[in-house]
Amino acid sequence: MSSFSIVCLDCNHSTRYHPAEINCPQCGSQWREVTYPYKEIAPKLKAELAQRPFDLWRFRELLPVHNPLPTLRMGEGGTPLIRAVNLGEMLGCENIFIKDERQGPTSSFKDRQAAVTIAALKEAGITEMVAASTGNVAIAYSAFAARAGIKLWAFVTSLVPAVKMREIALYGSQVVKVTGSYDQVKQIAAEFAEKRGLYHDRGARTITSVEGMKTIAFETAEQLTDEFGPLTGADGTPRWRTPDWYIQAISGGLGPVGIAKGFRELREMGFAEGHPKLVGIQAEGCAPMVHAWKQNLEKAEPVMSPKTHIETLATGTPGRAYELLRKEMLEFGGLFESVTDEESFRAMHVLAKMEGISAEPASGAAFAGLFKLVRAGIIKPTDVVVINCTGHTMPAEPLVLGSGWARNVVLPAEQPEALPQEDGLLAALSRVAPDRFPRVAIADDTPDARRLIRRILQSQGDYTIFEATNGKEAIELVKREHPDLLILDLMMPEVDGFSVLDALKSDPETAQIPVIVSTAKELTKDEKVRLQGQIQSLMQKGDFLSDDFLEEVKSIIR
Ligand SMILES: *Cc1c(COP(=O)(O)O)cnc(C)c1O
Ligand SMILES: [Zn+2]
Repeated sequence: MSSFSIVCLDCNHSTRYHPAEINCPQCGSQWREVTYPYKEIAPKLKAELAQRPFDLWRFRELLPVHNPLPTLRMGEGGTPLIRAVNLGEMLGCENIFIKDERQGPTSSFKDRQAAVTIAALKEAGITEMVAASTGNVAIAYSAFAARAGIKLWAFVTSLVPAVKMREIALYGSQVVKVTGSYDQVKQIAAEFAEKRGLYHDRGARTITSVEGMKTIAFETAEQLTDEFGPLTGADGTPRWRTPDWYIQAISGGLGPVGIAKGFRELREMGFAEGHPKLVGIQAEGCAPMVHAWKQNLEKAEPVMSPKTHIETLATGTPGRAYELLRKEMLEFGGLFESVTDEESFRAMHVLAKMEGISAEPASGAAFAGLFKLVRAGIIKPTDVVVINCTGHTMPAEPLVLGSGWARNVVLPAEQPEALPQEDGLLAALSRVAPDRFPRVAIADDTPDARRLIRRILQSQGDYTIFEATNGKEAIELVKREHPDLLILDLMMPEVDGFSVLDALKSDPETAQIPVIVSTAKELTKDEKVRLQGQIQSLMQKGDFLSDDFLEEVKSIIR
C-alpha cells in the first residue's frame, strides 16, 4: 500500500489522486505530477527488489495505483537492454544499448502507459475511456482495456496504417478514423470525451502515463548496473548507473517527460546520482521542438501541416511538454535534433541488418539521430548511450523497402501433383541468384575488423568474400583470386598495407584491381602522398557508416 499525492506544477497545491479529476482544484492547471514519500519508500524497496520479478510492477510503491490487480498484467515492462555490438563497431562506440521495448505485450513502450493507466482506472471503477492516437497508444490501451473490461474509443488519423487500425478493432475498441492532422484528431477526441463525460488520455498531462514511462529509467539504471557493476556514491555506498545519453524519437514528448522524472526519483531516493542527457529526435517535416530549441525559444511554434510519412511522429503542437523538456536539457544537457524520413528508413535497414532488430520507422528516426550525433562528435566513443527501440515492422510499408525486395521463384507447372524435379528447382533458383557475385578481398590483421566489413557487405547479400589475415597472405590471395576489389588495412605487422600496395601495383596482372584503404589512425602527410593515385578511397575505421561504405563499394565495382 503506497501513499502519494498530486502536486500542481503551477501553484504547488497538493491533493489526493483520482484519475477523473484532471484540474488543480486551486488554480485549474492540468499540469500536475505525483510525489511519493521517497525517503520512506527507498529502504523498503531496495530490500525487496531482489525478490521481485523483473517487470514494471517491481516498482509498485512508486506507481499511483494502490492495489494493482494481478489479473490485468501481461508481462509489461522488464524489457531487455541489449548491447548493440555491431552498430557499436560500425560507429566506433562500444557502449550503445538498445532498450528493446518491442518486447512488451503490444510491441511498443506505450504498453507502460496503458498498463498503469488502465490499472488506475480499474481501481477507480471507470469503465469507458477515450484516446487519440497515431496508432501505438491506441493498440496498447486497447489490449489492456480488453483485459480490464473497459470500453475504449480510439480516435486515429486516417494516415495510421490500416494494419494498426485493424489491430485496434480486433481488441474490441471502437476505431474512429478522422481525416485530418493528429492535432485535430486530439481536439475532436477531447470534445467527444467532454460531451460524454468520459475519461480521456491527455498525453504528457496524464499522470498515470508519465508514471508508466518513468519505469524505463528505473529499469535502465538497474540493467546498466548489472552490466558494469555499481558505482560508489558520495557516502561510500553503492549506486545504480545512469547512461550518459537517452535517445528517443519524440512526438508529444510523454516518454522523455516520464523518463526524466524517473531519473529524478532515483536521485531523490539515493539509488543513483547521475542524470542522462535527453535527446529528442523529430521528423524533419514535423519538428516544432527542434526549431524552437535551435532558436533558443521558450515555447514551440506549432507545425500546422506536418510533412512526414512517419505518422507516429506527427504531433505538430507540442505545447508544455517542450517547455518541460527544454528545462531538463538546460539543466542536465541534452538536445533536440531532426532527421529526414529517408534517413529514418535507412537507419531501419542498418539496425535490422546489423543487429537483427526490426523496428518501426519512428524508432528508425531515433537511430538516425544516434548516427548523426556520433558523426558530429557530440556523442563520444566511450559514452554510454541508451536508445528506446519500439514498434514492430508490421507496417513495413512499400515506402520503407522500395522495390526489388523479394525475388519470385516460379516452378514449372507441368506436373502439379509431383514434387518439382531437383533440376527444375535448381534452375529456378539460379535464375533468382546469379552464379557469380562481385568478389571482394578483405586484408586486415584484426578479426573484428574483418568481421565488421564482411557483415556490412553481407547485409546486402551479393558478394563473394575472401579474407587475408596479414600482408603476405593478402598478396597471395589477390594474385590467386583476382578480386574485383581489395579492402586493405594499412597497419599490419611485417608486410604492411603500403608494401602490399607496392607489390600489387608493380605486377601488371594485379595493378588494375581497385583498392579501398581502411585505417585506424590519422595518416601523416608522407603516407598520404604515398597513397596518392594508388587507391580508390580512404576510410577511417570507426568513422564510416555502413551506408557510405556500401555506396563506395558499389560505385567502385559497378
Ligand atoms: C509514441 C512513440 C513515439 C513518440 O513518443 P512520445 O514520447 O509520445 O513523444 C516515438 N516512437 C514510437 C515508436 C512511438 O510509439
Ligand atoms: Zn495549481
